[in-house]
Amino acid sequence: MQLKNPSLWQTSSFINGEWHSSNNTFKVENPANGEVIAEVSEVTAGQLELAVKSANESLSSWQAKTVDERGNILRRWYDLMLGNQHDLAQILTAEQGKPFAEAMGEIVYGAKYIDWYLEEAKRAHGAILPVNQKGKRMLVLKRPVGVVSAITPWNFPNAMILRKAAAALAAGCTFIVKPADLTPLSALAIGQLAIEAGIPAGVFNVVVGRDAQAIGEVLTQDPIINKFSFTGSTAVGKKLLAQCATTVKKTSMELGGNAPLIIFNDANMEVAIKGVMTSKYRNSGQTCVCANRIFVQKNILPEFVEKLTATIKELKVGVGTEEGVIVGPLIEKKAVEKVEYLVNSAIESGACLNLGGKRLNQSESGNFYAPTVLTDVTPDMDIFNNEIFGPVTSIISFETEEEVTKLANQTNYGLCSYIFTENLARIWRLSETLEYGMVGVNEGLLSNPAAPFGGVKESGMGREGGYWGLDDYLETKYICIGNMD
Ligand code: NAP
Repeated sequence: MQLKNPSLWQTSSFINGEWHSSNNTFKVENPANGEVIAEVSEVTAGQLELAVKSANESLSSWQAKTVDERGNILRRWYDLMLGNQHDLAQILTAEQGKPFAEAMGEIVYGAKYIDWYLEEAKRAHGAILPVNQKGKRMLVLKRPVGVVSAITPWNFPNAMILRKAAAALAAGCTFIVKPADLTPLSALAIGQLAIEAGIPAGVFNVVVGRDAQAIGEVLTQDPIINKFSFTGSTAVGKKLLAQCATTVKKTSMELGGNAPLIIFNDANMEVAIKGVMTSKYRNSGQTCVCANRIFVQKNILPEFVEKLTATIKELKVGVGTEEGVIVGPLIEKKAVEKVEYLVNSAIESGACLNLGGKRLNQSESGNFYAPTVLTDVTPDMDIFNNEIFGPVTSIISFETEEEVTKLANQTNYGLCSYIFTENLARIWRLSETLEYGMVGVNEGLLSNPAAPFGGVKESGMGREGGYWGLDDYLETKYICIGNMD
């Protein structure tokens, strides 16, 4: 890998503006071929303590800066993300496997959160309330919550960090993140750009290590930390939420999904197929908002399956750096095994395999699984009830709107849903009755720095993006001034 800015390649924790190595290391592998691309130092308990201490010590001076002063520094960070886009994308594809074009897109997407929040912070105003008692004046201030810790997943190694850090730093908070141990390099490169942007030491910290539990215990329980923000699976999120209860931390939880994508007879079929392809095959099917259950109304089922299968057949699978590749490897062997299990058990229970259904050997020791289409999927199958996290389209047929609404809501998850129809009244009805934090209407790609991303039910709490995302890093403080007459 040839980086124009070789200093982006860092392999130890970034704490208080400096790199901290240790004697214990762990390997980072390229999921496309199993090659070890880096040996990264495990954060020590002492270094972790230093990260919390320095985030706390840098808090008052970061808060004391004017919103413009913070904004100017964040603007440099944003510019550096774009200026180093190619290098950052190379690092991302090497450790995560996604096609290079997608990695380039993720760098811009992540950076856009910085751009959006440095502006939005200028509007984090409070309120002066109307006088309803003589001699009293009531004010509301918005104040940064303080020291924020975060744990992020491997599927968007850049953007899942910046979605949080941009809002936190713009609000005047300081930040410590632990990225997934499968993808620490993108996080550390962001740390290097924090130095280059002039973000003061201690304001942004990255701690890396394999012992997620031990690191997580500190990040969720240290009383100095005021807020914890997590993106990852629901199972781990529940555990971390319980840990946060010990110090009553403010929390944001971006957890798993089981997105329904519903196509009605009256849908524009081309638009629906495009929506499925965008939602399902981005990141090889490894996004929390991936369409997990595709519901197709009975009349259009045969035509839809035929057209969709033909489109999926054309997808080029391969190493992310190869030209034209749309589907890269899955993140690790375990992920391939899980997808394999879900597909095989669905077939054993009566689902019909229309395409794929097997591992692929695009390279030696790569984690490739063929783009797959299953029909006749039913609600009793594991594939209906679990996040697939792979390039598998799982199709269920339905007859009525009432039936499909019930089936779509038949899950503990509530992150994202999609509907494809030309019927305005139905769009309105389903936008209200689908129990999800987000609804895509004739659209497979929703995420946007200006919009509130997040789920209901066991998909989490809090929102990232838009005004709502900033508010999650602010406290509401009430001031009452008496004896004013
Ligand atoms: P995961 O297993 O929950 O891991 C996520 C993060 O939690 C990683 O950094 C992991 O560290 C850490 N972790 C795991 N066990 C922990 C513990 N006991 N204590 C503290 N930290 C712990 O999830 P994943 O498989 O990486 O990511 C996929 C999941 O994320 C899916 O469910 C997906 O839907 C969800 N997701 C949600 C959103 C959203 O915005 N709602 C966005 C993206 C992904 P290590 O990796 O180092 O073990």
